[in-house]
Amino acid sequence: MKNYSPPTFLESVDANFTRAAKVSGLPKGLLSQIQTCNSVYQMNFPVKIGNSYQVISAFRVQHSHHRAPTKGGIRYSIHVNQEEVMALAALMTYKCAIVDVPFGGAKGGVKITPWKYTEEQLEKITRRYTTELVRKNFIGPGVDVPAPDYGTGSREMAWILDTYQTFKGGEIDAAGCVTGKPVTQNGIRGRTEATGRGVYYGLKHLLSYEKDMAEIGLTAGMAGKTMVVQGLGNVGYYTAKICQDEGDAKIIAVSEFEGAIHDPNGIDIDKLFKHRKKTGSILNFPGAKNLKKREAALELKCDILVPAALENQITMVNAKKISAKIIAEAANGPVSTDADAYLREKGVIIVPDMYLNAGGVTVSYFEWLKNLSHMRFGRMEKRFNQNTYSMFADSLEKMTGKRITNKERSMLTKGADEIDLVRSGLEETMVTAYEQIREIYKRKKSVTDLRTAAFLSALNKVASDYMNMGIFP
Ligand code: GLU
Repeated sequence: MKNYSPPTFLESVDANFTRAAKVSGLPKGLLSQIQTCNSVYQMNFPVKIGNSYQVISAFRVQHSHHRAPTKGGIRYSIHVNQEEVMALAALMTYKCAIVDVPFGGAKGGVKITPWKYTEEQLEKITRRYTTELVRKNFIGPGVDVPAPDYGTGSREMAWILDTYQTFKGGEIDAAGCVTGKPVTQNGIRGRTEATGRGVYYGLKHLLSYEKDMAEIGLTAGMAGKTMVVQGLGNVGYYTAKICQDEGDAKIIAVSEFEGAIHDPNGIDIDKLFKHRKKTGSILNFPGAKNLKKREAALELKCDILVPAALENQITMVNAKKISAKIIAEAANGPVSTDADAYLREKGVIIVPDMYLNAGGVTVSYFEWLKNLSHMRFGRMEKRFNQNTYSMFADSLEKMTGKRITNKERSMLTKGADEIDLVRSGLEETMVTAYEQIREIYKRKKSVTDLRTAAFLSALNKVASDYMNMGIFP
């Protein structure tokens, strides 16, 4: 693989788009409008770090305004560059369309290594970045709504909200200017785990199709399937944990910055997480073997490989060594377009990022709705439902003459809390979106992979929005 350099992330997104565009039957001008990034804001601002000033580079890209607001996370990483943010923003447009979340796509990036700064310095940077967004009208509940991404979390989102409110005092829907906030600061229960939980629901549904699984030599269902996870950040951790706890998947290897570990008997994810917290590394985990190179984890024989770190992790450098049957793209853009073509040819099922990791933005949408309604989900109906179910249980006892045990009664009469509704809404979203994608994949002869089918699902929806606006009739 001498002299090989993989396509950039944006090149891969564009190539994948073009593949789908060719079989979409949509007019050329409309396709160009959908593909292009509408607004790119590149900024540089000074922040005092210690005794001197540092000039920080940052971006916000709004890819498509076919719906408002635009939506997408903010990434803190030294590798952030304009092309990367553009690719991520484009994926957000398709992602939102696939799961019927009524937003255009956007993404932000700040070019810093977050762990090299103190909490106070990060707060300063975040507040200054938000100020730049406010100044240029690049943030607001009806304009553009950021969220967490790689290197950011609920803490940064709380700073963003507070800064926004400083400028927009009295704006009634201000809390909807950013999602992924702490639950105590207008956030929603279940947002932190949402991307990982969405991956679980998506995979569970895909694995439930007996015939589809038989085609790649697998039985239906997640229980007992071997899984390798790259990245134990927010997405990787929750994907692994929920697939293990609720799906009975067997996590046989995990890789991270510091290395990779392998245990064919299965790795307890919560124990591993605690071990990493204590020792600062996943390595030397009791019962597991340290692998020589962290990349080796990706090459292990397994049923499901979950890249949950960054883009371009599987390229033609390592594609030939991959021996997974399913690649579940929990990260954005983990497989380069050439490696994607090679693996597809080999019969590997690649579950595309723009569908599989859409759980984050789906629950962000619920959070935004909660903010606009100024009320917690479940508040109005929970007790009403509980009372109705309780009366139903009483009647059942009377009619049958049998006692319902206390345990059964509490299960039967439970009214839904916010977390129950969020999880149910997320599962419904992931299942419905997959059915739509699978339908295209099965019905259209020219579509031979799930990524193209997912693109078509998105393209048709975005195109119909433009057509309904009377543009590109
Ligand atoms: N950063 C996440 C993503 O790539 C979440 C975006 C959001 O919630 O707006 O999908």
